[in-house]
Amino acid sequence: MDETNRNWKPATQLVHGGTRRSAFGETSEAIYLTQGFVYESGEAAEARFKGEEPGFIYSRYANPTVDMFEKRMCLLEGAEEARATSSGMAAVAAALLCSIKAGDHVVASRALFGSCRWIIETQMPRYGVETTLVDGRDMAQWEAAVRPNTKLFFLESPTNPTLEVVDIAAVAKIANSIGARVVVDNVFATPLQQKPLELGAHVVVYSATKHIDGQGRCLGGIVLSDKKWIDENLHDYFRHTGPSLSPFNAWTLLKGLETLPLRVRHQTQAAARIADHLAGHAAVERVIYPGRKDHPQADVIARQMTGGSTLICLEVKGGKEGAFRFQNALEIVLISNNLGDAKSLITHPATTTHKNLTDAARAELGINPGTVRLSVGLEDVDDLIEDLERALATVK
Ligand SMILES: *Cc1c(COP(=O)(O)O)cnc(C)c1O
Repeated sequence: MDETNRNWKPATQLVHGGTRRSAFGETSEAIYLTQGFVYESGEAAEARFKGEEPGFIYSRYANPTVDMFEKRMCLLEGAEEARATSSGMAAVAAALLCSIKAGDHVVASRALFGSCRWIIETQMPRYGVETTLVDGRDMAQWEAAVRPNTKLFFLESPTNPTLEVVDIAAVAKIANSIGARVVVDNVFATPLQQKPLELGAHVVVYSATKHIDGQGRCLGGIVLSDKKWIDENLHDYFRHTGPSLSPFNAWTLLKGLETLPLRVRHQTQAAARIADHLAGHAAVERVIYPGRKDHPQADVIARQMTGGSTLICLEVKGGKEGAFRFQNALEIVLISNNLGDAKSLITHPATTTHKNLTDAARAELGINPGTVRLSVGLEDVDDLIEDLERALATVK
């Protein structure tokens, strides 16, 4: 049985959507840890390979547990098709590389997750793809970057770690006017708080490692789009380059999806309280939080997001020394570079996730020596505020 009802609300989809029960009628989704599948006859194998009969062939192409994860994500995202991958970067690389060729031009927002920026800045030019990085907040820069061979726009919003936002509908309008495709890395917003496809984007990618797993257990990713784009671009690339998700990790992510709305709601509410609390603190230079009225792009956020964020960007006084003192004094909040986790995590981007950028490139992105990124977890908010307060008191 295939439990698929497009009219269910998200919380229901996330518990039941895409479930395929075996003949045993198991309650929880089954893990099909198998590399391949057997056929009743040579004729049956031939028909399946020809695509004349439905069925699984090889787990690099598709697998029943992975398929349940893909279907559930499609229902949540409002996408027709998806391919789940072994990590978020496998998803981003597949989404970006499957449709372009030498001589094409790609425009991307400068504020990107480090590895995404490496693909655009370093990898693509090696294969003869022209690339331009722009300030994603400035529509005039997107427009000015367009060339006759521009095929793809890529952006992340809110951005890592400074939580800037890009007006997705406005970028999509420019892309549509020249027949280019827009790929959005929607990790920071989560599938619940921003719907890029509804805003006019064509492809959405996730690192499922973050909120979708949400409990720090495994890596995973997914690319979602319309059936035509996947058939024409991703289908063959995916089959023949092999970024497939393990069935065990797909199962872990399916379990993560069941509780995603509860976790994201709690973490966002907690983050909003913490952001307000820290905003006036003597040891804090600045708080950037997408749910606050003083966010520089509060108008864009109100238009395209339905919630704030589970993340907060903080500028601690005293530069790197202040930021390290703060991090080191925390007892509940752990120093780690994951995000969207049940455990609250803090990271100092200048010396970790963004260490490979030059000082000038970091400054351009607003990543200063005192910048820290806080991912709010599922702990009691009062305990977290107490922990943060105590650690901030050590900052001079
Ligand atoms: C983590 C992350 C990725 C990469 O995902 P992995 O699962 O670590 O490969 C890509 N984009 C953003 C915005 C991320 O936060």
